[in-house]
Amino acid sequence: MDFEVVIGLEVHLQLATKSKIFCSSSASFGGEPNEYIDPVTFGLPGALPVLNYKVLEYGIKMGLALNCEINRFNRFARKHYFYPDLPKGYQISQFEEPLCERGRLDLFINGGWRSIGIKRIHMEEDAGKNIHDSRTGSSLIDLNRAGVGLLEIVSEPDIRSPEEAGFYLKAVRQIARYLEISDGNMEEGSLRCDANISLRPAGTLQFGTRTEIKNLNSFKNVEKALEYEIARQHKILKEGGKVVQETMTFDTSNLTTRPLRSKEESSDYRYFPDPDLPPLVLEESLIESIRQELPSLPNERLKTLTEGFGLSEYDALVLTAEKASVDFFQAVFDVCNNAKLASNWITSELFGRLNKEGKELKDSPITALALGQLISLITDEVISGKMAKSVFDEMYETGESPDKIVEKKGLRQLDNEDDLLKLITKILDANVDQLATYFGGKDRVFGFFVGEVMKETKGSANPKKVNELLKREIEKRR
Ligand code: ADP
Ligand code: MG
Repeated sequence: MDFEVVIGLEVHLQLATKSKIFCSSSASFGGEPNEYIDPVTFGLPGALPVLNYKVLEYGIKMGLALNCEINRFNRFARKHYFYPDLPKGYQISQFEEPLCERGRLDLFINGGWRSIGIKRIHMEEDAGKNIHDSRTGSSLIDLNRAGVGLLEIVSEPDIRSPEEAGFYLKAVRQIARYLEISDGNMEEGSLRCDANISLRPAGTLQFGTRTEIKNLNSFKNVEKALEYEIARQHKILKEGGKVVQETMTFDTSNLTTRPLRSKEESSDYRYFPDPDLPPLVLEESLIESIRQELPSLPNERLKTLTEGFGLSEYDALVLTAEKASVDFFQAVFDVCNNAKLASNWITSELFGRLNKEGKELKDSPITALALGQLISLITDEVISGKMAKSVFDEMYETGESPDKIVEKKGLRQLDNEDDLLKLITKILDANVDQLATYFGGKDRVFGFFVGEVMKETKGSANPKKVNELLKREIEKRR
């Protein structure tokens, strides 16, 4: 029997706010253990939470970017569980009245579009970190992360393969980075993912029993864990067994999943509205003003590059991967008005060079203006494409403008007709034998003459002009 894979992801996105979600301690990553703590983070008696407006703003931004309905009535709820890294014994989260619901994320995968439903997005606080010291056998607790603002983004079970899960996750990260609400850095834990997965007989509608793999912390691990879990569930079902609904962990040392605990029901958490935080009633005008601030998002920019500028899907994907790249492309285009050349020079020359040196676009010694000017010099036939490469290298090293480098090095393409004519006459006079061979039917000899002109001008002659003039002058002598 064939099985269909059903996956739903719960993504935790750590928000890049200055302070935590309910107090003024810093929300920075790093820092000495327990440097960013205070009575609210500790949950000391009498300490009261106050919502950080930025968390709400960022949550609304993400909700709008994922085509969600923003709920006008919001409430925070206490979710109880007992871990040493959760000082209050509960996490402030949202339960029945989350910030966003019923959204959609459209993914461009291998040349086609796939739409994944977004079930909900809610705001919550992060927990601290347990650090197990294997040397002493003791556990230490760092509360720097406790109380940092998170968005939990829950997809519908619309994902159909580990590969698609990877695309979904990367798209969420990309949007968060376009919105500048999170760096989405999985290594540092600002993007974490729980993956729910089940199988069902192909062609049926009812979902099978799922397992949930907790805390996947890299794109690769998400795909690997899902692949392993698919194979495991597949084997059970094929042998007529039943998948047990449970919470699993992924062991990165041998790439297998194993049970962590039986799945908790929401009643286990004893949710109730947090009495310390009043319900949040959002005005339509607030949502609208945030909508006005949204930047143009990856899919829209992808369409502009492919449909508007006629770039290949591949190049458009490279350029839209980061907002900074596509903004850079647009700025180069605004100067040179040639999308193909702008795309080529950015993706091959500039990115190639930056990658080699482990640098990012923001460290580029070549500005968008300068690269646009360089491309204009090519399209205006002031310099050849080949010379442009050496000008580019010089620009990269010195940060000088292309004009200045072209002047300084005398690279301006030779296209003065009188000068070229004089040279061509001289070369034709000196090579009567070759000319005879050419007239005898050996067309290849034309290349010899072009080569001579280029040699004499040290490659600075405008090749188009040289071709034109050579043809004309040779025909005159036939
Ligand atoms: P819970 O409240 O138990 O966490 P939710 O309904 O909120 O469950 O779903 C959590 C995640 O699990 C969502 O991403 C959802 O898409 C996914 N999910 C739900 N049912 C299944 C299933 N049968 N197979 C795979 N994923 C599922
Ligand atoms: Mg859940």
